[in-house]
Amino acid sequence: MESFDLIVIGSGSGLEISSEAAARGLSVAVVEQGPFGGTCLNRGCIPSKMLIHSADVMETIRGAGRFGIKAEVSAVDWQSIVSRVVNVIDPDARAVEDGNRQSPNITVFKDTGRFVGRKLLEVGGQRITAETIVIAAGSRPAVPRIDGLSDVPFVTTDEALRLPKQPRRLIVIGGGYIAAELAHFFGALGTEVTIVEIAPRMLLQEDDDVGGRFTEIYRKRFTLLLNTAVRQARRQDGEIVLEADSEGRRQTLASDTLLVAVGRIPNTDLLDAAATGVTLNERGFLKVDEYLETEVPGIWALGDVVGRFQLKHSANLEAAYAAHNIFQPKHKVAVDYHAMPHAAFASPQVAGVGMTEREAAARKLPYASTIYEYSDTAYGSSIEDSDGFVKALANRETKEILGCHIIGSEASILIQEVANAMRMRLTTDAITQSIYVHPALPEVVQRAFASLPL
Ligand SMILES: Cc1cc2nc3c(=O)[nH]c(=O)nc-3n(C[C@H](O)[C@H](O)[C@H](O)COP(=O)(O)OP(=O)(O)OC[C@H]3O[C@@H](n4cnc5c(N)ncnc54)[C@H](O)[C@@H]3O)c2cc1C
Repeated sequence: MESFDLIVIGSGSGLEISSEAAARGLSVAVVEQGPFGGTCLNRGCIPSKMLIHSADVMETIRGAGRFGIKAEVSAVDWQSIVSRVVNVIDPDARAVEDGNRQSPNITVFKDTGRFVGRKLLEVGGQRITAETIVIAAGSRPAVPRIDGLSDVPFVTTDEALRLPKQPRRLIVIGGGYIAAELAHFFGALGTEVTIVEIAPRMLLQEDDDVGGRFTEIYRKRFTLLLNTAVRQARRQDGEIVLEADSEGRRQTLASDTLLVAVGRIPNTDLLDAAATGVTLNERGFLKVDEYLETEVPGIWALGDVVGRFQLKHSANLEAAYAAHNIFQPKHKVAVDYHAMPHAAFASPQVAGVGMTEREAAARKLPYASTIYEYSDTAYGSSIEDSDGFVKALANRETKEILGCHIIGSEASILIQEVANAMRMRLTTDAITQSIYVHPALPEVVQRAFASLPL
């Protein structure tokens, strides 16, 4: 059995801690079963956004006529779209792994780790132990229980970002962020997309106004089946056939490709995390305290495996806190999640921070809310964004910014200033009293906050 000062399981955000430990001269084991860099680099944020950029370029060309430019797309070169991504991602992942292997204080274990005792891990036939262990093992796509699903060749996001051939038709099961993004990617490039969602609208976690508008837009763009539950899957005549219950009716759907995007489950089972004595919640996520320590002193956890937010910037934030709390145990700091923004890089983009109106109402806060359309601003109308709006929420009595929800062009960028102001606990004055470049798009954010009846 080999002993280390620190073991990190998972080479996503966990690497922030292993590299800091190695820089402090500690002996570190990094355990990773797949490519280095984790989900974000290999199967998540980065490849999906690279692919989506190709879809955005396509949309720009297709919409060019509105701006007096006659343009046509002569072909979609699928192989070069995918290889552009692979050629960036794979060398990056190898570089991260090489960097770890070259560090004199880090030992890399390239295999699946499994707990076999309290602080004892078995990996690749070896046993390793450490007083301090960081579980940053992430999550993987959930697969719903659907009769016959395991007998059809469905894909999840693990495969969908590297398909060798563009699907002619695609059914997406799910209506969350990832489903919305990938429907946009495939759809913009010419795949015929059907989205099947069990809920009455898409992006269920968004503010109702944003989710509602998004659903209307996707209904026009794609075949969108809401309130629809897939009951059975089978292969028939070379196709994937689904039987679904849709608003009281049985529907039969057929496609050449099926993408299952119904959420993600933590990798705690693969790790046999319970064998360490740590506690899992009913959905398999690791229970941690406000400092990110599990119920076993010295075992820490962060990121998707904890599941507070399944976002890369949240995992990175937690890694920074965990590093601080591990290396400065006398000055531990509770994680401050206030003003955690998020974005979906669909078309239109969607982004949000803070409370939805429903949450503000449920908490009985004295809130004010308003919606400001992009088209009522100079830049919004010049780019002809007739769908976009900013919804602002603030406390009527204190002017505290409670939340902001945006749908439309560059929503992922516009949300940042509100997230920054909220994070600094500033009031709406931080936005309404600032000077904005005219006629730039952020004016829509300022106008939304300025029109709040405070
Ligand atoms: C398609 C897609 C798009 C996304 N887009 C965004 C986005 O735009 N913005 C955003 O903020 N987030 C996005 N996310 C979410 C983001 O990728 C994750 O929240 C983030 O990567 C989680 O980081 P992590 O360090 O917790 O886990 P991971 O990065 O998943 O790292 C965990 C690592 O642990 C390894 N591992 C697991 N179990 C074991 C074991 N037993 N032994 C050894 N190794 C193990 C895994 O192989 C993995 O490499 C997206 C996710 C997906 C799937």
